[in-house]
Amino acid sequence: MRTRIIAGNWKMFKTIAEASEFARQLRSEENVPSVEKVVCAPFTALPALAELFKGTPYVLGAQNMHYEEKGAFTGEISPLMLKELGVTYVIIGHSERRQYFNETDDTVNKKVLAALNHGLKPIVCVGESLQQHEAGQTEEVVRKQTEAALASVSADNLVDVVLAYEPIWAIGTGKSSTAEDANQTIAYIRGVIADQYGKEAAEAIRIQYGGSVKPENIESFLAQSDIDGALVGGASLAADSYLKLVAGAAAK
Ligand code: 13P
Repeated sequence: MRTRIIAGNWKMFKTIAEASEFARQLRSEENVPSVEKVVCAPFTALPALAELFKGTPYVLGAQNMHYEEKGAFTGEISPLMLKELGVTYVIIGHSERRQYFNETDDTVNKKVLAALNHGLKPIVCVGESLQQHEAGQTEEVVRKQTEAALASVSADNLVDVVLAYEPIWAIGTGKSSTAEDANQTIAYIRGVIADQYGKEAAEAIRIQYGGSVKPENIESFLAQSDIDGALVGGASLAADSYLKLVAGAAAK
């Protein structure tokens, strides 16, 4: 049984004060134990959230990191620094980082390996562009990205990896994939894992869908056979919407 996982990706939103207000609103809510609840916040908000999430079921995530422990890398944050803050998850290879910040399959792989070496759980993003989608290249693209991201990841470490299928054309556009199409691609990605690691590992790994997920459509995605959760941008920014996503993910 794969535990469902909702992760908010706040992107470059929320000051420390705004993040703290969000956390205070969550704390008053009841727990939904069947769903793992993650908030991936900007680096600056992580210390405040770490304090506010103590003793709550909410889990802290970051949105990126460098693969080196330390060094002359101006402006970067290392896995050690995230660990020190009590971060559990880290998003790796988000399409916005691939598109705007020179993230490549190679740096994604280095970061995934570094995260696992430091006891951080990577949420590894894969997904095709609109052009690739329309050219019928979705499977080819997600296979290549998944294989590259997981190169040299051991079967033992794979249990700590979460994959997120985010078709780029569905991110922030209000245009989500249909639940059926998302499920088909996610089942395909599970097949890629089976090819590399065997059927048992493929059945165990959690794969999220991301791209215009909202409280109104989350249940349709989670009703699918292979979708284990969602990585949510815009709809994770307000506490009441985030809590609705969690409740929606818990619904059968
Ligand atoms: P939206 O939910 O805003 O479409 O963003 C999706 C995303 O990029 C999550 O990582």
